[in-house]
Amino acid sequence: MRAASQGRVGLVPTMGALHDGHLTLMREARKECDLLVCSLFVNPTQFGPNEDFGKYPRDETRDSEMASSVGVDVLFAPNVDEVYGGNTTSVLVKGVSDLWEGALRPGHFDGVATVVCKLFNMVGANVAYFGLKDLQQCAVVRRIVHDLNMRIELRFSDTVRESDGLAMSSRNAYLSSEDRSRAPLIYQTLSKCFDALRQAKSPQETLQILHAGKTILEDEEFAVDYFALVDSNTMEPKDIPGTGDSIIVAARLGKTRLIDNIQLVY
Ligand code: AMP
Repeated sequence: MRAASQGRVGLVPTMGALHDGHLTLMREARKECDLLVCSLFVNPTQFGPNEDFGKYPRDETRDSEMASSVGVDVLFAPNVDEVYGGNTTSVLVKGVSDLWEGALRPGHFDGVATVVCKLFNMVGANVAYFGLKDLQQCAVVRRIVHDLNMRIELRFSDTVRESDGLAMSSRNAYLSSEDRSRAPLIYQTLSKCFDALRQAKSPQETLQILHAGKTILEDEEFAVDYFALVDSNTMEPKDIPGTGDSIIVAARLGKTRLIDNIQLVY
């Protein structure tokens, strides 16, 4: 695609089931790219055996209409064979992918890293756009581009939220109406901890605040996988908050697993 285009090629990688979070990335990309490509690929290698690959929402016609409404030039929707046929290579990113999502979803970031490298190369992108909602994914992609000397610029965009604060996600569609009404507590709790951490002066205080956040969610029957303060680049846990660190959370409501985060700005 780069060869066919004279200018700057932008890529917004997605798994489809598009929502306004995805469209925001595309609108931002549209402003600075000559050829804008959106990939639509539900990547099997980033799903664990008991995850939702089979039932992940798919509606290519709707996605295609939404993407063209914000000026996407090319919808790149390869099938699994076109992406992986006969491949035996995968990309392993150590360190930044070890904890949190990486620990709970073994192999997830190997799948993400591999497909991201492949999509960059297949599209010939000069710049790629990612959402900070998937904070650890952003850290992994940053690491790949640095470590493999890739000639691509990266852009990261703030999380787009529903009016009640719930981070937009294709997986929100799985929530029952009762769980949907409880889900905004995740962002409310992140915001509460964000305020409290401004005052935290010691590791003990930090841990207490994080523990209190986790408890708020557990008291409302969320199954919390983690609720932690991390360095946003390395994803290492922190015990004294600093500017640019993030509070990250993963919690399950019924069968739906939601992730979110908030970045500390002082
Ligand atoms: P996905 O289709 O879930 O793989 O997401 C594709 C891209 O959209 C990733 O870079 C996500 O981080 C980003 N994204 C997903 N949800 C949001 C959101 N609510 N706000 C901003 N970006 C998002």
